[in-house]
Amino acid sequence: MSKVGEIILDKVTRKFGAVAAVNAVDQVIEGGSYCCMIGPSGCGKSTLLRMIAGHETPTSGRILIGGKDVTHVRTGERGTALMFQNYALFPHLNLTDNVAFPLKIHGVGAERRDRAREMLARVQLGHMADRMPSQLSGGQQQRVALARALITNPQVLLLDEPLSALDEFLRLRMRVELKRLQNDLGITFIHVTHTQPEAIALADKVIVMDHGLIEQAAHPREIYDRPHSPYVARFMGGQNVVSARVLTVGDEIQAEGAEGGRFAFAPRAALREGQDIRFAVRRDKIRLDQGQARAENAMPGKVINVEYQGTFVKVELATPQAEEFVAHLPESDFFANPFRFGDEVVARWQPQDVCMLVGTNNSAGDALAH
Ligand code: ADP
Ligand code: MG
Repeated sequence: MSKVGEIILDKVTRKFGAVAAVNAVDQVIEGGSYCCMIGPSGCGKSTLLRMIAGHETPTSGRILIGGKDVTHVRTGERGTALMFQNYALFPHLNLTDNVAFPLKIHGVGAERRDRAREMLARVQLGHMADRMPSQLSGGQQQRVALARALITNPQVLLLDEPLSALDEFLRLRMRVELKRLQNDLGITFIHVTHTQPEAIALADKVIVMDHGLIEQAAHPREIYDRPHSPYVARFMGGQNVVSARVLTVGDEIQAEGAEGGRFAFAPRAALREGQDIRFAVRRDKIRLDQGQARAENAMPGKVINVEYQGTFVKVELATPQAEEFVAHLPESDFFANPFRFGDEVVARWQPQDVCMLVGTNNSAGDALAH
């Protein structure tokens, strides 16, 4: 198998004083894949990206790109290109010269302008090659920065929150373009974001970080559907986290919620009686009714918010547990039997929809911490 664009992080650590911004990170990122790194502000995403780009040196550990140890190889000689968040275009150069600039540094002659124009055409700006950056919209400036990063034919393109300066409409459009570009070029993209839907939509692999550590790295479906820890479940969203204590262990696990709820599900991890556990149930797997709460896998609650979302209705409950609890009901179900503020309801789910959270990171995973 070709190793072009493959990245191996081998116990990569970067300390600033006593603080490890990136702490012994081990990871393999497949060549030609689209990888998104996500986590709250300050968790070490940029530091890790900058180490891959060569703008920062690890305190310890190794980085291999395409099978070669590049830990101490200079930026520009390791087959990577980094696109900055603020684009950093040269205001006094037209688009062609902006994009050709890295080639000029590499001593490429007159042909660099032809190559720059080709690359501008690739990002749909071929007709603007003679304009100055100030004559462009934010989205267009971003595409120029992208063309300039790609002009050196990197094996790996590194993008640090590339869409965060754009408005919602442009962000969604550029997201499609990034995916198309990665598909066309077949090179590795590593894209740092703090927007969960962006990571899930784009990535072949999502890396969820917290405090300099990788909390979970997997296909987005796995991250979303089978979060490793309460932190990942809360941070990525779409889940309810329920706390309980194991009562009996057998063919099925019986557990009791803090305020007396009863839960039963198939054993999935080595659990023992008396153990405090947390599990996740997806918001779209919850059903609500006004029956009794006695049954297993049910939780009483009071409706505290109802939001129509088009294809589904978001119903938020106050439950005996302190944690946020939300059901996403198919809109036809909801309107056949609508719930209102203050209604006393019972939330129910199937035992097979329980995802045991084996990781111990229980932080709030506040997605808005940024
Ligand atoms: P993120 O990109 O996830 O927001 P960063 O990688 O920028 O996080 O930062 C991770 C941690 O390292 C933070 O605590 C930050 O303050 C610290 N840090 C980053 N760069 C430096 C630096 N040059 N000097 C000192 N501390 C730094
Ligand atoms: Mg950052």
